[in-house]
Amino acid sequence: MSATEPPATRPGPTPAPSGKRTAARRLRERRLVGIPVSPGIAIGPAFGAAEAPAEVVRRAIGPAEVAGEITRLDAAIAQSRKQLQKLRARLAMLPEDSQGEIAPLIDAYLQMLGTSRLVRGVRRRIAEAHVAAETAVADEADTIAAAILAAHAGDDAASRRRRAEEVREIARRLVRNLTSVPFRSFAGLPVGAVLVCEALRPADAALLDPSRLAAVATDEGGLEGHTAIMLRALGVPAVLGAAGLSQAVRPGDVVVVDGAEGTVVVHPAPETLAAARRAVTAFAREQQKLARLRRLPAETADGEAVELQANLELPAELPLIAQAGAAGIGLLRTEFLFMNRETLPDEAAQAETYRAIIEAMAGDPVTIRVLDWGGEKDIEALQNEGLVPPSPDRNPALGIRGIRLLLRQPALFEAQLAAILRAAAAGPVRVLLPMVTTVAEVRAAREVYERVAKRLRRRGEKLPEPLPQLGIMIETPGAALAADALALEADFFAIGTNDLAMYTLAVDRGESEVSHLYDPLHPAVLRLVQFATEAALRMRMPVSLCGEMAANPRLIPLLLGLGLRSFSMNASAVPRVKQAVRAAQTDDCVRFARRVMEQSDPQRIQELVLDNAAG
Ligand code: PEP
Ligand code: MG
Repeated sequence: MSATEPPATRPGPTPAPSGKRTAARRLRERRLVGIPVSPGIAIGPAFGAAEAPAEVVRRAIGPAEVAGEITRLDAAIAQSRKQLQKLRARLAMLPEDSQGEIAPLIDAYLQMLGTSRLVRGVRRRIAEAHVAAETAVADEADTIAAAILAAHAGDDAASRRRRAEEVREIARRLVRNLTSVPFRSFAGLPVGAVLVCEALRPADAALLDPSRLAAVATDEGGLEGHTAIMLRALGVPAVLGAAGLSQAVRPGDVVVVDGAEGTVVVHPAPETLAAARRAVTAFAREQQKLARLRRLPAETADGEAVELQANLELPAELPLIAQAGAAGIGLLRTEFLFMNRETLPDEAAQAETYRAIIEAMAGDPVTIRVLDWGGEKDIEALQNEGLVPPSPDRNPALGIRGIRLLLRQPALFEAQLAAILRAAAAGPVRVLLPMVTTVAEVRAAREVYERVAKRLRRRGEKLPEPLPQLGIMIETPGAALAADALALEADFFAIGTNDLAMYTLAVDRGESEVSHLYDPLHPAVLRLVQFATEAALRMRMPVSLCGEMAANPRLIPLLLGLGLRSFSMNASAVPRVKQAVRAAQTDDCVRFARRVMEQSDPQRIQELVLDNAAG
């Protein structure tokens, strides 16, 4: 187990009905390994592996639109090929027998995206029947599948059904890519199911109902991507980046997902099922033990107070925050307000949501981060309203992101600031700016902030005096190294180690291929955390750490030793982190941090952290 993942388990429902279970037992158990992103064990029937979430709205077109539809079709074919080639390349991680089963299927799909009967037929329908590309794809696939099933000569009925399903499956992929809604329809997801799919966008994760879902497992995705963060926050056990998964699992197959170990077992043998059930029971006991910590103070063994707050990405997490005993919200990610909708939320709607969250915190502070669009967080409403380009930057993580967008779109920024200020009467609030890299950005943002406040006061709104503090995320190496200058402009720092590690190490946080290189314990990342923390402490300015690092109890002695006393994390991590805080002696932490900071090898740092945690 790595130093960055605490183990845990979570109860899951009992698996499929007995008839299915008998059939499953006859099938060979298969274990796939991915990235452990959200701890917990779940047992349940798979859902989603081959579902068709994108609905085809039948649409006729005029002759002038034919060329445009052909271009859309070509783009969707290219995108589908890219997705399949990526899946194909990742199969190299699997044992040879598994590769042998899955690779031919992907090859068949790739072939159908070439000069196949399907693609020729779709082009013909667009050009001659004058229908939109997705209509043409659905109609042509239905025709070909019906012809395969009706054929009397040649293959047996089972292989005809399989071939017809392959045609439908590739058509579904094309339609998903044409309609830009890869996996969004969870309406049919049965209670207690395990969602299995190639990839899950953050906007998709925002639609999941954690009370219905046993676990999530995907082929794609990284440890610290926003999808992973949301799943952890929702307390849903999850394994991402398990190569070959969606091709190896069929809907209804019983699977065991171990989100701490990063494994997905398909068709579990009776012994595997029994072990998983024992783990579920152990989890329930551990949860009960941790619940007792709720009312105890967050202070070190030598009496230093430590602030432990929760990150919130969806209102659905609010009850978890109360259960966890967090002292307020240290990072309210507001992206959820803008996702999965056609138009932007106006000032009044935003103010209402912020007010409800602040009131739910009953006097505990709430740090609201203004919209952090960009990177992997795609938001359709911003595209619909022309605030961001329709296709992503060539390099989205390095493009218009966070504060850069807000300063370019003052109306968007002002509406959000006004909404926060109007809600601020409901309780203590701070405002946080994402992706800051220069002093000029903080000054420009403060100008907008003060202008908005003035306008609201003129309108007769009663605002807190002085205005809520305006702080910044330290999440790029540039910001960390300029922390002393930024500390003169900002009221507080929130160190975001998720992006800080990504930008420092040049490793995409949501990409499974490079997840082994993503390491917040790399000395370069730790030095930047130390530099920014010390700059804030010198100025006696509040500083907290709100990246996923804060959620790992093993890292708490190191972070306390670097001088940090405020952490914000997914709510479910608060009890364990409190346990680690209460066990820590600050002098020991300072000595330990000094030892760690002398190291140059990330592997050695991992070992030191694990040894220290082991006692
Ligand atoms: C971070 O980058 O560490 C952070 C907390 O922000 P987000 O994960 O939302 O990018
Ligand atoms: Mg960030």
